[in-house]
Formats: sequence, C-alpha cells, structure tokens
Amino acid sequence: MTASNYIAGQWVAGQGSECLHVYEPALGQPFEELTAASVAQVDAAVAAARRALPAWKCTDANARAAYLRGFARELGTRREALIGLQMRNNGKPRHEAEIDLDDAIATFEYYAELAQQLPARQQDVPLAAAGFTSRTRLEPVGVVGLIVPWNFPLVTSAWKLAPALAAGCTVVLKPSEVTPLVEQAYGHIAEALGLPAGVLNIVNGKAETGAALSSHAGLDKVSFTGSNGVGSQVMRSAAAQCRPVTLELGGKSAIVVFDDCDPDQAVAWIIAGITWNAGQMCSATSRLLVQEGIADTLLPRLQKALQALRVGNPLGEDVDMGPLTSQAQWLKVAGYFATAREEGLTCLAGGEVLGREGWFVSPTLYTDVPVESRLWTEEIFGPVLCARRFVSEAQAIEEANDSRFGLVGTVCSADLARAERVADALEVGHVWINSVQAVFVETSWGGTKASGIGRELGPWGLAGYQSVKHVTRCLG
Ligand code: NAD
Repeated sequence: MTASNYIAGQWVAGQGSECLHVYEPALGQPFEELTAASVAQVDAAVAAARRALPAWKCTDANARAAYLRGFARELGTRREALIGLQMRNNGKPRHEAEIDLDDAIATFEYYAELAQQLPARQQDVPLAAAGFTSRTRLEPVGVVGLIVPWNFPLVTSAWKLAPALAAGCTVVLKPSEVTPLVEQAYGHIAEALGLPAGVLNIVNGKAETGAALSSHAGLDKVSFTGSNGVGSQVMRSAAAQCRPVTLELGGKSAIVVFDDCDPDQAVAWIIAGITWNAGQMCSATSRLLVQEGIADTLLPRLQKALQALRVGNPLGEDVDMGPLTSQAQWLKVAGYFATAREEGLTCLAGGEVLGREGWFVSPTLYTDVPVESRLWTEEIFGPVLCARRFVSEAQAIEEANDSRFGLVGTVCSADLARAERVADALEVGHVWINSVQAVFVETSWGGTKASGIGRELGPWGLAGYQSVKHVTRCLG
C-alpha cells in the first residue's frame, strides 16, 4: 500500500478504514488508490507537530526563510511532474497548471521575505504614560491544522503552509481526498530540505479524517478552505475548544459590465471569470450584471465565444477548458441544468453535459435569470454563468450585493472614477477593475458575509498564524 501520510518525518501507509480512489476526470477512470489515515494516525501527526513546536518557533528567522526558499526552489525542480499530475487528476489545461505551480512558488518566496523581516517587527511601543516601557512580540499561534479542497490543491496549501511555517507554527495538512497526490510533494520537499521532523505533517483522508483533525484537542488553530457546510462544522469544533479559526468558503460573485466597455474585451473578462478551472473557483464571477446599453451587443458575442471554447482532455488535446474534477461535481452541475430547465430559464449556450467519456459539461449562459432562481443565488462551482440587465449604477450595486456570499467582484468600465466608486461599494473581500482573477501574493484573500472569516496572503496571511504579546515593564 502506498505510504502517503507524512508523520513525524516518516512516510507511512494509511491505517484507516476508507479507500481513496484517485481519478483521471477526463476519462472518468481511477489511476491510484490510497488508504486513509486512521484517527490514531491523526493523533500521531498532531503529537509530532506538538513535539516539534518548541524548537521550530525558536528557529532563527533567517533559517526559517531559507527553508521557505528551499520549498520554492524544490517546487521548481519538480515542475513537470507537478504540472502533469494537476492536468491528470484535476483536469486542468496545461497553462492553468503552470500558473498554479508558479503561484505556489511565489507564495513561498514571498513568505520567506516576511519571515526575514520578523525580528525587525518585534518593536518597542511608545507609551503616553511615563515610567513604563512596552515591546511587542509576534509569536506563532502554535500547532495548526490545515484543511484544504481540491480545486487549486498546490496553491491553497501553499497559501497556508508558507505563512504558518514563516510565523514559526508547526502544521498538520489534510489535502482533499479528490486530489491527495500533488500535495505529497510538500512532504517530499520537507524531507529533501531536512526540515525538522514533525514541523510539517500530512494526513490523507475524507470527512472522517478531516473531522478527527479539526476537532483535535491538540491544535491551537484550524485554517480551513472548502464548502460552507463543512466550514460551519469546523467552526463548531473550534467553538467547542474556544480556539481561533480561519475560514475560506464559497462565493457567488458578480461581474458588472457598464455600457462604456469595449464589448470584445468585456467578453474575454467574463469568460475567464467563469471558465477558468472549468468554473470550479470560489471566486468565479458567476453572476453577470450587464448594463442595458451594451447588453444587446455583448450577449450574442458572449454566446458565440462560449460556444467556440475548445473543451476536452488536457492531456491529449489543445483545450481552453478541461473536465470537472470529480463525478460528484459533474452530477451537481448536471442537477443545476435540470433545475434551469424546470425553471424555464433562457439558455443561450451550453446547459448540458457532454456525451463523451469523462466528466465534461459545456460552458453555459442563462439570461434574464430571476433573482429568486437557485441558479442566481447558489454556488454551482462549474462553468455556468447567469446574466441580468441593469439600468443604473445604484441598481448594479444593489443587485451585486444582494447575496449571502461576499468573496470577490469584477467591475468593467471605461469610466475609472465610476469603477472605483462601485468597487468601494461592493460588500466583498477583493475587487478587480478591468481585469479578472488576478491574485497577487502581496494582496489579501478572503471574504465577507458567508464567504469566510479572516484573510490569507499578504501580511494578513502571516498575521493569521501569529499571536500578539506585549511585554510591559515598570521603570521605577
Ligand atoms: P469540502 O468542504 O467538501 O471539503 C474541503 C475539505 O474538508 C476536504 O479536505 C474534505 O476532506 C474536508 N472535510 C470534509 N468533511 C469534513 C469534516 N466533517 N470535518 C473536517 N474536514 C472535512 O469542499 P470541496 O468540495 O473540497 O471544495 C469546494 C468548496 O471550497 C467550494 O464551496 C469553494 O467555494 C470552496 N473554496 C473556497 C476558497 C476560498 O478561498 N474562499 C478556495 C477554494 C475553494
């Protein structure tokens, strides 16, 4: 049996009761099988992280930075293998798999810099009162459980691992059961770099393993990325232990297109926002709000462009969009196509699963979707775009904000003052103006409302793994 769990610096086979079948979604066929970690192995991983913490948190910041640079470098040396694995297991087109790898590398490099700056940030605090001094210590939170989904496995894990290790935390990572192979690279890299045993542990498994980790009494924090349903369970476990949690959850984001846009440019932005990763993005801009004056020009061009996308197996063909990553996701999206038919929605493109092997669906556009429709309000997590027309800026803002989610938004307009105004009014964590899905490691990531709690990336990502202590001394 494959030794897929990395615990206390050793690779060990899972001893749990569940089998993880790893699929090639373009064929709908499994190509690897793992056994999940047992609850006792989750205990062992947390215990290893706990043992490693005292030494790791005192490691010199330059040494921690050197390890992080090592992660960046070693990801680069595994480039082809990691790109190939994401194409095979996620169904990502090659250029998307390349960007994911580059994002992960950039994240480790960025947090190496921030780790190095840490000593300079342990500062004295000027006090108004006489007779005292006070200094700040930014200390690691401690042992952290990191639970991630399958849509951007290398990237989502890097966004957690790099700042956690930079802060001086030790970690137990649980990858998704859908894509459990690619993040094993992090364990192999830890081994190659001689990262002290127990600083980074990896346990594989499904919900049972995730729940064993998120409810573990030996953790000081959990950082979770995934669905709202599981996120609220993770939050309940954290509440029971009165410990902090970071949650990166779902989205149903708007892209607002004003009538002063170049329609072809707008079409390119709209398509990228809904078909990248086959729409399996928390940040997919799946609600299109298009202004009356441009709608009749833009929608037919959008229809044509969506219908022209090349959908296929990224391993054999030159494609714009691959399959959905899992059968469960494929069935879920097919269910929304059925709901759209029941609701009598107007379908301008797609709206069906593709009749070939594997888990493919066509890029889809529904128009004039009522605000009560489930397709307008629920996260679909597929290449399914719903459109509505608006007249005024105020109406666009109101409709964009009328969602339980608040992850991102995109504003397209030649009037930059207006675009900035709308960006300020959107109740979300990140807004793109005249661009789409551009995520930079220096900027924050995370949502308002039901899209989550806390922020990743940038200095905020590091702060999520730090505890602030002040040492105040009486001079008298
Ligand atoms: P999911 O919630 O089903 O699973 C996420 C992880 O949680 C997996 O590792 C899974 O094994 C684990 N898990 C399952 N049950 C658990 C339990 N009871 N306790 C603890 N862990 C458990 O989500 P998914 O289907 O893998 O991912 C899709 C979701 O993730 C979408 O809703 C998407 O919007 C969200 N997402 C959000 C962001 C963001 O940054 N906001 C990024 C990517 C994905």
